Amino acid sequence: MRLSWYSWAGIRTSDFDTTLRFFSEIFGHAPDRRDDAHQYASYRLNSGQTFEVLGPKNPYYALHEYPVIGFQVDDLKVAREELSEKGIEWLTDIDAWGSDAWSYFRGPDGYVFQLLQRETADWRGTVAQALALAARLEGEGQYNIAKLMRAAVDSLTRRASFDQDDRSAARDLTQDLDREIASLAAWGVHPSLIAAIEQGVAARKEGRLPLLDETPHPYVCRTCGHPLLSEPDARCPVCGAWPATFQAFLPVYWLNALEPSEALEQLGQNLVVVEKFIEDLPENTLARAPDAGGWSLRNAVSHLRDAQGVLQVRLDRMISHDNPALESQAVFEWADQETDRPPSTHEIFGSYRDSRNQTLTQLQNLPLKDWWRTGRHEEFGTITIRQHVSYFATHEITHFQQIEALRRHWLESG
Ligand SMILES: [Zn+2]
Repeated sequence: MRLSWYSWAGIRTSDFDTTLRFFSEIFGHAPDRRDDAHQYASYRLNSGQTFEVLGPKNPYYALHEYPVIGFQVDDLKVAREELSEKGIEWLTDIDAWGSDAWSYFRGPDGYVFQLLQRETADWRGTVAQALALAARLEGEGQYNIAKLMRAAVDSLTRRASFDQDDRSAARDLTQDLDREIASLAAWGVHPSLIAAIEQGVAARKEGRLPLLDETPHPYVCRTCGHPLLSEPDARCPVCGAWPATFQAFLPVYWLNALEPSEALEQLGQNLVVVEKFIEDLPENTLARAPDAGGWSLRNAVSHLRDAQGVLQVRLDRMISHDNPALESQAVFEWADQETDRPPSTHEIFGSYRDSRNQTLTQLQNLPLKDWWRTGRHEEFGTITIRQHVSYFATHEITHFQQIEALRRHWLESG
């Protein structure tokens, strides 16, 4: 028998209402299920685990002299038989409610435990099962159902990280990274991938961006999950899958987000969007940093102008040289540096617009095949003009939400 985790914990209380108020305050929400007749309330945690409070009228009250932990098993009947053979004393039969089934047993020192079978309790199990089903569906040629399964998993995991964001924003990223590396390793992520993450984190501790030789693009076997730190040139050493079936992880989705014509159109549109954000605002508003800290609108426009400058220089090099070296630039850090900046934000925007228009002309005259000319980027590896333009066009869009929020903030605060 393998215990995957404990999916349930329950305590009893002599004062049901007061205790519920206490825990509702701690968890920040009312119980997800509450039954006053049986004095039972259940809180669902983000992890998928539940925490239950039982009052004196609950039939299990007597078993909860101490808090009880419920260990999750795949098959309660089988697990129960296995433990019976080992002489475990059962305090209840198998009881069930909905898709949950459970049974209490006695442990050492008078403690009581529970085995629990619950279809949806195990977050990891649900995700692994959805991906396993997606692979089986793909095996049947059912790609449209498979894509929805994969989207459900992506949605679920992203929402979980989004929920976590508030809590972790103020926390020390270095410490969180070290902790996460340890827990990824403990979950069995391959040592080669762990080592590459450690290299990257070490570079960050030195205050720099890790380069490609320290943090290569990973390729993960779509069949078995085995990771490689270089482009696969042979079959998967674990499951034998062919090299072309691995999933490559590029640094950021911006590189492949847009086709040439879309990217070109987007570069032009972004210019109009940015102008609309700032055209009617005076310099003192544009240059004002929000009280909470962070960029002013001037910083944001400066940042877009700086990024456009990098695009312009790289584009020139990639058009006029074969596979030139491209230095990685910490453009983000320049936004609040004021050396050589034009005096007003509108002038900074003007220089952004001029440079952008020059880029647009250059790209409109570029033969389609030249969009696949390459450069060697020390952080991202070999990239094409197509990827570069997609990168910069998409990068700008990711700043619009922030710029719009700043604009609204200043307009509303007068
Ligand atoms: Zn494999």
